[in-house]
Amino acid sequence: MRTAVVVGAGIGGLATAGALARSGWQVTLLERGDRVRAERTALVLWPNGLRALRALGLGEGLAAIATPLPDVGVRRPDGHWLVQPRPVPSDRAPVVVHREDLHDALVAGLGDRVEIRTGVEVRTVRATDGERPSVGDGRSSYEADLVVAADGIDSAVRRRLAPGATVVSSGCAAWRAVIPWYRAPQLPVDRPVDGETLGAGYRFVAASLGDRGSSGGSTRGGIYWVATAAGASRPESPATQLTLLRRWFADWPAPIGDLLAATEPEDLVQQEVRELRPLPKSYGFPAGAGGVVLLGDSAHAMPHHLGQGACLALEDAATLRSVVREAVPGAPLREAVESYSRLRRPRAVTVVRQTRRMSAVLQTRGRLALRARDAALGTITPRLMGSAATAAAQWRPPA
Ligand SMILES: Cc1cc2nc3c(=O)[nH]c(=O)nc-3n(C[C@H](O)[C@H](O)[C@H](O)COP(=O)(O)OP(=O)(O)OC[C@H]3O[C@@H](n4cnc5c(N)ncnc54)[C@H](O)[C@@H]3O)c2cc1C
Repeated sequence: MRTAVVVGAGIGGLATAGALARSGWQVTLLERGDRVRAERTALVLWPNGLRALRALGLGEGLAAIATPLPDVGVRRPDGHWLVQPRPVPSDRAPVVVHREDLHDALVAGLGDRVEIRTGVEVRTVRATDGERPSVGDGRSSYEADLVVAADGIDSAVRRRLAPGATVVSSGCAAWRAVIPWYRAPQLPVDRPVDGETLGAGYRFVAASLGDRGSSGGSTRGGIYWVATAAGASRPESPATQLTLLRRWFADWPAPIGDLLAATEPEDLVQQEVRELRPLPKSYGFPAGAGGVVLLGDSAHAMPHHLGQGACLALEDAATLRSVVREAVPGAPLREAVESYSRLRRPRAVTVVRQTRRMSAVLQTRGRLALRARDAALGTITPRLMGSAATAAAQWRPPA
């Protein structure tokens, strides 16, 4: 039986481990945390991410956890439209999911054929010719035909195999929260939750996850919001950070104030936004009778502005599953490792390039620059959003 070791039990690692196990591989999943768990936030899945989930055989569970996200346009903090909402064709429409709901679906997809080892922090990797690829934590070594590094932006495996790819700050910090359904503010019908507002160096996006048990009875529900601010992350306590957020967004259009008022410090997840620059030159490293591949944030961590990081991780998983489907250890599996890299790297480069353009727009500060941005935004943002949505909509899993 073909064997794989997957490092990291985030979205990318769970999706990959389940997909390989369902294709008959014997899989060991290594996670440094003491258990496999998800953040209590949410995320947007674009059509490419949805298509990848379906290709991975996880489409069925999706209908029960996804809430459609309408095109809400983009407002300025004074309430004026920067970009008017427009109807979105159904093949370009995103959905929003609670991360814990998605996590449950991915864990259910592991079945009983994945051996999960928690508390294993991978520190070493061997990817040399003539020897089976392996990873180790200093106490034990884990060998397999295929090693999948899904260990996130600070990937120990990538640091060893692609040391030129460096983690850098994207110049902003992000705060996310899911207000649980039982604390969600009751808003008038003319003040929908879903919306995006863009100011000088600040952005606020909110999306409804519906009521608990909506969309088929298994969602956690609530209201998701993400705030982005240019500058470093804040060292203060969550309660003080929340006070700061309420101050920064005080005069912004409703319902932002209502949402921040309903948020408790324990709902808040703060993160410095970071990215990989440059990207690794390759995502596949043939070794022994197979090799090592980089997947998800370990391969292409990018700022969250287009909401594509997890979608790309799912694309990676679907692509890997497809290229290794028929590959037996030896020349075919080594070729599959290279072919994964050939398919995934150009795709990641394209999405990262678009995300960086969006970063520049989002982080514009200074009065003149802002005026120029606002004047241009009406054309640039729809084009950027449009091309991002098109790129997302155009991706198809390999046959
Ligand atoms: C503010 C924000 C909003 C976002 N919104 C969206 C969105 O709307 N849509 C979207 O598609 N994406 C979004 N993203 C991006 C998305 O969250 C990431 O791209 C995605 O979670 C990456 O998944 P991953 O599995 O590759 O890595 P991770 O989620 O980082 O998982 C890595 C796993 O590996 C484990 N690990 C790490 N090192 C080791 C080690 N040495 N040994 C063993 N285990 C290890 C970690 O504990 C973790 O469990 C957002 C990101 C941010 C910051």
